Amino acid sequence: MAPETGGHSDGRIGEVSLHKCEGGAGSGCDRNRPFHFNMVIDFHAHFYPDKVAAKAVEACAERLPAYADGTRAGLEASMREAGIDLAVCLTVVNAPANSANINAWAVRENRAPFVMTGGFHPDEPDPIATVEAVAAAGLPGIKVHPEFQNFRFDAERLFPVWERCGELGLFVITHVGWDALFDPPYRSGPEALAAFRRRFPELKLILAHLGGMAMWDEVEAHIAGLPVYLDLAMATPEYIGKEQLLRIIRAHGAERILFGTDSPWYGQKKQLDFIRSLPLTPEEQELIFHRNAAGLLAGTY
Ligand SMILES: [Zn+2]
Repeated sequence: MAPETGGHSDGRIGEVSLHKCEGGAGSGCDRNRPFHFNMVIDFHAHFYPDKVAAKAVEACAERLPAYADGTRAGLEASMREAGIDLAVCLTVVNAPANSANINAWAVRENRAPFVMTGGFHPDEPDPIATVEAVAAAGLPGIKVHPEFQNFRFDAERLFPVWERCGELGLFVITHVGWDALFDPPYRSGPEALAAFRRRFPELKLILAHLGGMAMWDEVEAHIAGLPVYLDLAMATPEYIGKEQLLRIIRAHGAERILFGTDSPWYGQKKQLDFIRSLPLTPEEQELIFHRNAAGLLAGTY
């Protein structure tokens, strides 16, 4: 492709430029993007090993229909269609015996356009060794899911693991709130996560689903404004009104909000269009679509 001559620098990955798109003929500007970022980063996506992807999508179909086929190739195609440049793909260790295999797979898949997370299982014999191996392999963080993995954030036996993650510089991203695949009561609610944040103030903590899926009033009461990142996965028109979403983003601060889609469990383009339809300033958009994520991922892509 010929170099762009439209008057904006085509910056390196990780470098941020923001300018109004002139959109002139031959500028190379995508008119669908009112502002240019070097990258749009989806901080919450999933794909599965080819052998199990169809089964995973099929198993969830009734409660959680998929928008992509669950494979690496399927997610790449979805990103091309949506105009998303990089996705953080989250893996959860589903059983105590599986962490080594799952993390080894994540390490193999950890190449553009994806950054993979690792994980541990709360019931495995040596979770500290596992998170140390994740950090040594160059993955930037771990994903946990208190419903799926059956643990609570006030469980003292896990405190040394969170401490070690903090020392290693690994971010911890956790599911919070309602989940289509699990019945209430939930172990992970906004109030529990606010208490966890206070107990581990140094940990790089990311709360999925805007800090509490479908528990938005509790998010406003307990989470908004805390020094913790919130991702936008499943904060979609089906689950939250624009007014409340915007109120939470503003109360929390755009400098700690991460764009996310939960693909394949929601459409990447659909979610990108929705978030772009909010009356956010260019600066807020730049933070949410790129800059906050780039900061958390610094040096890993
Ligand atoms: Zn997810």
